Amino acid sequence: MKGDMSKPRVAVLGLGIMGGGMANRLLSMGHTISVYNRSRGKAAGFGDAGAFVANTPREAAARSEVVIAMVADDAASRNVWLGEEGALAGAAPGSLLLESSTLSVAWVKELCAEASRKGCEFLDAPVTGTKPHAASGELFFMVGGSAEGFTRARSVLSALGREVLHLGPTGSGALIKLINNFVCGVEAAAFAEALALVTAGGLDREKSISVLGNSALASPLIKRMLTSMAANDFTPNFALKLMTKDIGYAIKEADSAGVPLRTAVPAAEVFRHALGKGLGEQDFSAVIKGVAEK
Ligand code: NAP
Repeated sequence: MKGDMSKPRVAVLGLGIMGGGMANRLLSMGHTISVYNRSRGKAAGFGDAGAFVANTPREAAARSEVVIAMVADDAASRNVWLGEEGALAGAAPGSLLLESSTLSVAWVKELCAEASRKGCEFLDAPVTGTKPHAASGELFFMVGGSAEGFTRARSVLSALGREVLHLGPTGSGALIKLINNFVCGVEAAAFAEALALVTAGGLDREKSISVLGNSALASPLIKRMLTSMAANDFTPNFALKLMTKDIGYAIKEADSAGVPLRTAVPAAEVFRHALGKGLGEQDFSAVIKGVAEK
């Protein structure tokens, strides 16, 4: 399948829950794309759908004007961008490099400096929204970097997102994303404990859930948790191990800004407890199970 040559060629690095959906969406919007995934198995279907399957991030970047990374954490991001086979080694000067993973602000700034040395434009562009939003182009992009870079990125990001917002200089997108997710993590941990108290206090579970699920605390996040619980389906849209990572990055960032996150610290402990129970690969809502099992 040939892409629309009027649209920039895009490399997508990381074909997990989010990156996979984004790559499919770009294909459906007529972009010529190259894809890379650490474990090659996940990339095969994209080859069948018309993407070029690269052996390395470097190869994917060398064939593209725009590179988007969507990988797990700082270590994964380092792996796909740096080193001999990393995307920065393949990207031509002037390329537009977008980091959409949820990462620490310190790493994003370091990566931006590396990209600048290569003469590339770098933006941190993390997202809110989850698996279905990635697949349908309805993500919310929070972008950090120059205004010129943001203008250049707009058309590609608009293919993937319902909202594309320029927050400020490099690291601004990463920071607001960590702020968003630590609050989500605190909320989820508190709700898991609330349900444990419902059970331990001998309350009728169904009636209690009906109260809590219809009260002011019933945010979209809590509703998602209740849906997973009702269906007893914890298939990940957003893995518990990734939420744990995000709360940890937020705590570190806040510490260095002199703002101790006194609610996030115990929430991180609640999530680490669930990780210890082997729930890391399940949806973050499985934190309910982590709290229920002592
Ligand atoms: P995922 O399904 O677990 O995919 C993770 C991706 O990272 C995979 O492609 C994986 O490759 C790659 N990866 C992991 N470690 C690596 C390493 N050391 N070197 C190279 N590649 C590595 O995760 P996801 O849900 O798509 O999330 C991706 C990013 O988006 C994360 O930063 C997450 O926090 C953020 N995010 C997720 C959501 C969500 O709802 N899922 C929403 C907003 C933001 P393999 O296939 O080889 O393991």
